[in-house]
Amino acid sequence: MTQHFDLIAIGGGSGGLAVAEKAAQLGRRVALIEAAKLGGTCVNAGCVPKKVMWYAANLAAAVADAPDYGVQVQASGLDWGKLVAGRDRYIAAINRYWDDYVERLGITCVNGLARFVDARTVAVGDQHYTADHIVIATGGRPIVPRMPGAELGITSDGFFALERQPKRVAIIGGGYIGVELAGVLSALGTEITIVALEDRLLALFDPLISATLAENMQQHGIDIHLQFEVAAIERDAQGLVLAARDGQRLTGFDQVIWAVGRTPNTRALNLEAAGIRLEPSGVIPTDAYQNTNVPGLYAIGDVTGREPLTPVAIAAGRRLAERLFNDRPDLKLDYENVPTVVFAHPPIGKVGLTEPEARERYGDSLSIYETRFTPMRYSLNAHGPKTAMKLICAGEDEKVVGIHLIGDGVDEMLQGFAVAVKMGATKSDLDNTVAIHPCSAEELVTLKEPVRRSGQTNT
Ligand SMILES: Cc1cc2nc3c(=O)[nH]c(=O)nc-3n(C[C@H](O)[C@H](O)[C@H](O)COP(=O)(O)OP(=O)(O)OC[C@H]3O[C@@H](n4cnc5c(N)ncnc54)[C@H](O)[C@@H]3O)c2cc1C
Repeated sequence: MTQHFDLIAIGGGSGGLAVAEKAAQLGRRVALIEAAKLGGTCVNAGCVPKKVMWYAANLAAAVADAPDYGVQVQASGLDWGKLVAGRDRYIAAINRYWDDYVERLGITCVNGLARFVDARTVAVGDQHYTADHIVIATGGRPIVPRMPGAELGITSDGFFALERQPKRVAIIGGGYIGVELAGVLSALGTEITIVALEDRLLALFDPLISATLAENMQQHGIDIHLQFEVAAIERDAQGLVLAARDGQRLTGFDQVIWAVGRTPNTRALNLEAAGIRLEPSGVIPTDAYQNTNVPGLYAIGDVTGREPLTPVAIAAGRRLAERLFNDRPDLKLDYENVPTVVFAHPPIGKVGLTEPEARERYGDSLSIYETRFTPMRYSLNAHGPKTAMKLICAGEDEKVVGIHLIGDGVDEMLQGFAVAVKMGATKSDLDNTVAIHPCSAEELVTLKEPVRRSGQTNT
């Protein structure tokens, strides 16, 4: 028998849970189809396990710095098994929370792989489900390129499944996942090499961030190889080998991690049956209201290829449910000025345009403010990672159009500044805000003269 709903969400990750929850709260009959565990990538193989590991790494770094402050500690290494077991218990509790919550909301939860039968019908096994509105929120999975020996590498999913701490790891990819895994493992004592195709790490971030990140990583002993095109992974007597197209060889790894991007989960959905158009990359194109090309079918989150972040998927899902079921026909997510943090060591934050993007959009009317310093936290340590900050302002009134931060504490600092940017803050609004002292954040409201105006080159 076919069951009918007001809304079906395919995928029980950040986006699918958000749209299902809101629709159910608005009194609608909702089904949620999930092939694996509720919570999706963020809870099971993304933000949450990553951040637990990041906290462990921060603690390890703090213990190493403690004796310079007179704090006597005896570090006797890392119990990887205990860390992973604690992390997995925490995740299991979040899974249980979602299982219970979804039931309490009266959502029909279906466990299995969904595929379209037609534009109103979805099948899981032999069971058919129909709905007036169907939301695709199937997220993505890590890419493993085709090349000899590719299977010798693991992905971020494999990283979270590691039962033992690897000793020497090569990470392929200089995007945010590669940078985060490199930072965590290095702080926990693994020897790290990171290779990237591009000429800088975090190539989509501001150049100041990439440069400071590379400096901080090198100071921590991370080996960086840029413009390194991996052609094969091999195994020799010393371990795993990265062979580059130009003949370079990096050897002696006990683990290689692919971190070269993610691809949308669209293949299993049989989207042709519903008439949904795909981009060649597998991304489902949507308009500003998350509509696909087929009326009544929507897509949210990573599968749309836009700003692949948990809060973006959640915000898009909630707004979509309000638009469909709460008489708010114009409600949509504004994708401008989405803040984002990379949990590197130390962390990185950005909101708005990078300097090259701002130059393209605003031409000659930019003023760029910058600062770089070793934060007070490391005043008693011989070495500490650098903090760097850049403020990009446009026009006569110096509207803040970009903030780029790297350094201790910027992960927590950014959210408030992102509110200010969203509200259209100007440099003088920041100047008029009394600083909090002593902390790193005060630098952002005490920046004096621009280091350059547009037209001058970035150094
Ligand atoms: C290592 C890593 C670290 C990250 N760190 C952060 C971070 O710090 N902050 C942040 O904001 N974001 C982070 N992200 C990104 C974040 O996890 C994603 O943006 C977010 O999970 C996207 O949500 P979603 O709902 O689009 O998809 P997902 O959360 O991926 O959920 C999709 C769900 O759909 C299910 N599914 C797929 N196909 C089908 C099908 N045919 N039928 C039924 N179910 C199906 C999957 O099993 C999955 O559970 C990280 C990602 C990774 C990989």
